[in-house]
Amino acid sequence: MELTFKERVAVVTGAGRGIGRAIAETLAGEGAHVVCVSKHSRSCGSAAEAILAKGGKAQALAVDVADSAAVAEACKSLISQHRRIDILVNNAGITRDNLLIRMSEDDWKTVIDTNLNSVFYWTKGLVRSMMKGRWGRIINISSVSGLTGNSGQANYASAKAGMVAFVKSLAKELSPRSITCNAVAPGFIETDMTRAFQQGDAAKRILAAIPLKRFGHTRDIANMVAFLASEEGGYITGQVFTVDGGLTI
Ligand code: NAP
Repeated sequence: MELTFKERVAVVTGAGRGIGRAIAETLAGEGAHVVCVSKHSRSCGSAAEAILAKGGKAQALAVDVADSAAVAEACKSLISQHRRIDILVNNAGITRDNLLIRMSEDDWKTVIDTNLNSVFYWTKGLVRSMMKGRWGRIINISSVSGLTGNSGQANYASAKAGMVAFVKSLAKELSPRSITCNAVAPGFIETDMTRAFQQGDAAKRILAAIPLKRFGHTRDIANMVAFLASEEGGYITGQVFTVDGGLTI
């Protein structure tokens, strides 16, 4: 199936590396203009350059997604450049794992700010333009941790569960404007974030629990996101899609 993106403009946060970069490249490959957001300009700059080098449309934007004033400013500037943003993929995220008894308040707050509060800032900044255009796609990259919980990840799992509740609520608010809101919950995907678990005993233990017996590739997530973001995915809203090789069956 060929996916339709017409003249769509997409914002992908955390697009400098890993899953976000694969999402940005996939959407651009289908014809969307992609705004590649990440914390460091070298990272989002290289993602945008790679898309441009393949003949796609992209621009880089370095902004800390946890900084509400900076995100509001970025959203204003993007809307004045493009008139409206059609697709928002809230993907930027971090981990600060620890058992609760050892978790600092800073580890709690930093993860909630980066992974969950950022979703509020970006969506608030861009949704009005989608409402005016009576079309939109909001996709949150959650995690299986947010669905099942995970020892050592009370902060991360809480943020990821919040991202699911957020899209379910917004799906109800925004359906009259043809804006769909969904979440994707990846399992173990090979990126910098999971580097420490990709070898040795940790990897053996994890692979034993994954029925498909492999870690996920970033494109496994990007393909799901591309479908949800396309015209063809327009009858799906308020859902969470687990992409984990069967880990949580
Ligand atoms: P990653 O390789 O560590 O990349 C994270 C991206 O997020 C980077 O581009 C980084 O920017 C950006 N980022 C982090 N903090 C930011 C901030 N404060 N402001 C702006 N950008 C920021 O991570 P990943 O594995 O691709 O994960 C992407 C998303 O999927 C995350 O939300 C993660 O929780 C979720 N997820 C991942 C897995 C997995 O197995 N990998 C599983 C479930 C869910 P820079 O490049 O500029 O540093």
